[in-house]
Amino acid sequence: MAGRIKAIDKSSVHRITSSQVVVDLQTAVKELVENALDAHATSIEVRFKEYGLAAIEVIDNGTGISPEDYEVVALKHHTSKLSKFEDLTTVDTFGFRGEALASLCALCDHVTITTATEDSAPMGTVLQLDRQGRVVDRSGRMARQRGTTVALSGLFMPLPVRRKELERHVKREYGKALNLLSAYALFPSLGKHGIKLKRQSQIQTDGSNSLRNAISSLWGSKGSENTVALSLDLLVAQDAATLKKRGLPMEELKINVSGIVSKFAVGCGRSSSDRQYFFVNRRPCNLSKVQKAVNEVYKTFNATQSPLLILDFTVPTAACDINVSPDKRTIFVHGEQNLIESLKVALSDHFQPSRSTFSVAEVP
Ligand code: ADP
Ligand code: MG
Repeated sequence: MAGRIKAIDKSSVHRITSSQVVVDLQTAVKELVENALDAHATSIEVRFKEYGLAAIEVIDNGTGISPEDYEVVALKHHTSKLSKFEDLTTVDTFGFRGEALASLCALCDHVTITTATEDSAPMGTVLQLDRQGRVVDRSGRMARQRGTTVALSGLFMPLPVRRKELERHVKREYGKALNLLSAYALFPSLGKHGIKLKRQSQIQTDGSNSLRNAISSLWGSKGSENTVALSLDLLVAQDAATLKKRGLPMEELKINVSGIVSKFAVGCGRSSSDRQYFFVNRRPCNLSKVQKAVNEVYKTFNATQSPLLILDFTVPTAACDINVSPDKRTIFVHGEQNLIESLKVALSDHFQPSRSTFSVAEVP
């Protein structure tokens, strides 16, 4: 006989859904770094104890958290960034669901937040949180410049299988987390303020807006010398049926692609595609189909090496959905296949040896 249908108790639901937001070490780090960037930090340091197995600490010099917000900071679906669904189309912060801190509280042995605002610095408050994200102690005081430190210990301890998995592959997972930090070190230079990766896990502004500087600080000056800047305006044909259904005018979608790519005559001296980063409206994301297409075009000019590639797609916000997967690494771009076709044509044209910037003769 079929069982009766009952509601799952709240704290179990919380644990089940939390484990989708923070799926591994790199998403834990990603959520904390994004919070720091959302708080306008210009310097972010990530400390790993035992590759993150024992503890992870993310220290920023952002705005800090106001005392009025302490009690709700890590409660599920509490956010300072979005108040209604419609805001999703205009939101320009990384976070908007108010889930990350709540999830981390559910998935770690212990979470503490130390924070100071402009007004309270140089004195900070230490908040001890429980598994539900409730503040159980806010009496701690500590010298602290403006900013926030979030410290996690025992990531995934409440989920024994996932914890075992993390322990087994911790070096690989740690490598992925550092790679992700590189993406965030590249991101801001596409926008308002340059942040550079200082040492492997410290991102700091160098005040410049230059993507080249960011690349040099990540991979040395050679890395950036053999690259060319790229800016392509694409007119992407839209699927007429969808547009009609949505009542949108039959227009082509304007998408700009800008960034940097290795000169095809020199490549980046590597055969692997590990130095390739994609952004949509300056959000780091996985665009595997686009990545594959770009590499295919590149291969016709340089069969042996993969390019260093940093591409940011500026897409009208109404034409993309950033809320597809819990980790927000998947971004749905309307008409992606048509985008890929336009991009391939534009890139082939751009890579033609007759174009001055890609001239073989120019390369030393
Ligand atoms: P979201 O980022 O989606 O809002 P989070 O759970 O990541 O959700 O964070 C909840 C809230 O806590 C944020 O909206 C923000 O107000 C505050 N917050 C989190 N981290 C920081 C930080 N490093 N500096 C300042 N405020 C923070
Ligand atoms: Mg967040």
